[in-house]
Amino acid sequence: MAKPKRPTPKPARKAPPSKKQKPAARQAVKQPPRPKKAPKAAAKQAAKKTAPKRPADPFGEKALTQVFTELLRRAATSIPPDVLVALEKAREREEPGSVARDTFDVLIENTRLAKQDSRPICQDTGMPFFEVAIPRGISIGAIERAAVEATRQATKTGFLRPNSVDTLTNKNPGDGAGRGMPIVHVHEGKGKGLSVQLILKGGGSENVGTQSALPNVDLGADRDIDGVKKVVLEAIFNAQGKGCAPGVIGFCFGGDRANGYNEAKKQLFRKLDDTNPDPTIAAMEAELLEKGNLLGIGPMGYGGKTTLLGVKGSYLARLPACYFVSVTYMCWATRRAAVEVLPSGKTVYSQ
Ligand code: SF4
Repeated sequence: MAKPKRPTPKPARKAPPSKKQKPAARQAVKQPPRPKKAPKAAAKQAAKKTAPKRPADPFGEKALTQVFTELLRRAATSIPPDVLVALEKAREREEPGSVARDTFDVLIENTRLAKQDSRPICQDTGMPFFEVAIPRGISIGAIERAAVEATRQATKTGFLRPNSVDTLTNKNPGDGAGRGMPIVHVHEGKGKGLSVQLILKGGGSENVGTQSALPNVDLGADRDIDGVKKVVLEAIFNAQGKGCAPGVIGFCFGGDRANGYNEAKKQLFRKLDDTNPDPTIAAMEAELLEKGNLLGIGPMGYGGKTTLLGVKGSYLARLPACYFVSVTYMCWATRRAAVEVLPSGKTVYSQ
């Protein structure tokens, strides 16, 4: 009779380390290896750690001061791509070896160096003009204070020149701010984000802006489209090289004096290669650009084929007794920038 097999003894189960055990004994219990993180996930986590924290209130004064300061830096130091293209095209039109072509070479090189070194394109960093569209319920006061503080900070860091003079005392406080400086216009926008458009308007070009009341007997300009074109062309001719040509013209016909000028300035936010949706104004813009360039004033007034880089127009309703034509002139250093601040705090800059 075969001997019954002895049952194989089961291996004794290791008792879990008791809390009373010494630490060394506890460490002896082998732990399963931790799963290695995929490199992509690890990188993502690291990026998360280093990314700047989104502000708790992206539309608050503190957060907006930062955004506006960066917007000012961008506008002051880098020329918008469409303006650079227009300058390069203008250079190509001029004869090799001509003063006009050499001047364009200098202007283009100047913009390249300014962007490369993050330094102002021109010694006159202009007057900041903010146009802000806000979602419903946002504090207008916070936006105005943020624009003033951003101007101060950008002046302190040298991206803006101390450009504000108290007109009563003739003293320059040195911080770029003052009564009505910077200019800040706020209105309610349609979106949930806050969008800002900014131009830096230089003094030389501001000096050659004009405003006329039609009819103008000397120019034979009546209260009609033809009369408007005559006074705009006259303003371009009178500017000569003084506004640092080639310039961009913004014009508005109608409105009162204040709103007419403001509307003309707002045209400077537009890109040079856009087309006015109103065919009548689009035709005026094209004709004035062509005729302005035939004046031969050229870059800086040295003569040449390009006196203007663009002409942008608009109109407003008027009183029966008034017919104003407001013309603003922006120099070749057309400095503009825009930013969209989303409710998440994300910022999208553009030029
Ligand atoms: S007009 Fe324009 S380019 Fe000329 S000095 Fe003033 S900011 Fe500079």
